[in-house]
Amino acid sequence: MKKKSEAKRVLVVEDNELNLKLFNDLLDAHGYKTIEVRDGRNAYDIVGKEVPDLVIMDIQLPYISGIDVIKKIKTDKKLKHIPILAVTAYAMKDDEEKIKEAGCEDYLSKPIDIASFIEKVKRYVQAESV
Ligand code: MN
Repeated sequence: MKKKSEAKRVLVVEDNELNLKLFNDLLDAHGYKTIEVRDGRNAYDIVGKEVPDLVIMDIQLPYISGIDVIKKIKTDKKLKHIPILAVTAYAMKDDEEKIKEAGCEDYLSKPIDIASFIEKVKRYVQAESV
């Protein structure tokens, strides 16, 4: 039996409170510890400080795009190993390309499908049994 303190840590960057709560509840129910970040401007610094096992990154953030935050993380030698799952309301093909080019491992469209959200999270980081 693993202690909760050994649970994998997922950092969620999301400015929408309802989505943040949804992601938080889903991750918690599946044995992950979450770190909530509501603003893209501090996201990169917090990723550097926390070094989580996975980052879930909303693309539409105030002040700074999630794409720019992903690029910063993926060009940082100490952080680029951290998998990033982007979440976007965009459905345009051009935007899909931009998101992939930024270097994230995978992405999901909003409204998210809960089963594929969890499946993708598990693909990049397996939770410890709780
Ligand atoms: Mn947003």
